[in-house]
Amino acid sequence: MNIIDSKRIWLSSPHMGGTEQDFVKEAFETNWVAPLGPNVDGFEKDIESYLNTDIHAAALSSGTAALHLGLRLLGVTTGDEVLCQSMTFAASANPIVYLGAKPVFVDSESYTWNICPEQLEIAIKDRISKGIKPKAIVAVHLYGMPYNVEAIHNVASEYKIPVLEDSAEALGSSYHGVQCGTFGDIAILSFNGNKIITTSGGGALISKNVKHKERAIFLATQARDNAPHYEHSEVGYNYRMSNITAGIGRGQMQVLDSHVANRRRNFDFYKKHLENYSEIRFLEEPEGYSSNRWLTCIETTSYQLREGLRLSLAEENIESRPLWKPMHQQPVFADCDAYLNGFSDDLFDRGLCLPSGSNLEEDDLYRIVSVIKNVLR
Ligand SMILES: *Cc1c(COP(=O)(O)O)cnc(C)c1O
Repeated sequence: MNIIDSKRIWLSSPHMGGTEQDFVKEAFETNWVAPLGPNVDGFEKDIESYLNTDIHAAALSSGTAALHLGLRLLGVTTGDEVLCQSMTFAASANPIVYLGAKPVFVDSESYTWNICPEQLEIAIKDRISKGIKPKAIVAVHLYGMPYNVEAIHNVASEYKIPVLEDSAEALGSSYHGVQCGTFGDIAILSFNGNKIITTSGGGALISKNVKHKERAIFLATQARDNAPHYEHSEVGYNYRMSNITAGIGRGQMQVLDSHVANRRRNFDFYKKHLENYSEIRFLEEPEGYSSNRWLTCIETTSYQLREGLRLSLAEENIESRPLWKPMHQQPVFADCDAYLNGFSDDLFDRGLCLPSGSNLEEDDLYRIVSVIKNVLR
């Protein structure tokens, strides 16, 4: 096929459900064109009832902003250390640096590709023996696959270290029937354009503690004290979600379940057509885990094969991508300590994310699979 003739297939593109513009139109008609209003309140309620426990959500300008506020609410400050899953997107780690604290990275395990409980405990013991107790743990449900909640939270509570649950990629995933985004002392969601639902850009801070929500909103709206004039006794941020983008979010919440179903369908399709090739492996759900399959990722047998697949797909106007490059390999974090077992380095070399949008059509999926089969043949 020729690039000119073939439609571009994206890794993960926005997918509107149809009612988003009604909420946005209403915001215009009622002149709620501000970082507050009925859509912001409504979107927060929608998230709270979706997560389905006694939970509170603060809608913010991005998932990164939510991580920044979440760490601040957990008391992270200058000179602290925060343990962070190494295999993740940089936004999990950057906010640690915003607060003058230092990330210490922890490698992943093979069942979920997420933070390894054994390495985590080794890291905690070693930091404590060096005289610095880590202030928080950032654990990530990468690509929608829940981390080992029981093991990670057991280690965290044994050492009394709070967990910031990065659920940016895992809205709609669950662990033993409980929604991701409800496990951490604080959790965050992202509604960036490539995520399972989008507000074009946005995020949320989630907590069972209503005081966390109130304080997040206070800090996100410039930390304005209660006075008729502008009075400030703390440094705040401008991190609240706009009532316009929250309107998009309300529409997207109506299609979240169907987006999850479509993404899971993508995974099943790829698996059905490719599982007989010994060069390719899929990450299965351990018992009790349910992934939203935000991205379908494959593990190949070598860096060369991974690159061969990626470049052949690109030639056919199909976007694919290597997995997240671990943070301990990133130049910006070169001087940070890391507790490693080799897993994420190896996976980064051999792994590939396949197109996974909820708006992919069966023809698109067949096109992708046939390119992959041609390379393997
Ligand atoms: C997308 C993402 C974020 C950041 O969210 P934004 O809304 O883009 O700021 C954080 N962590 C992970 C794992 C992500 O994938």
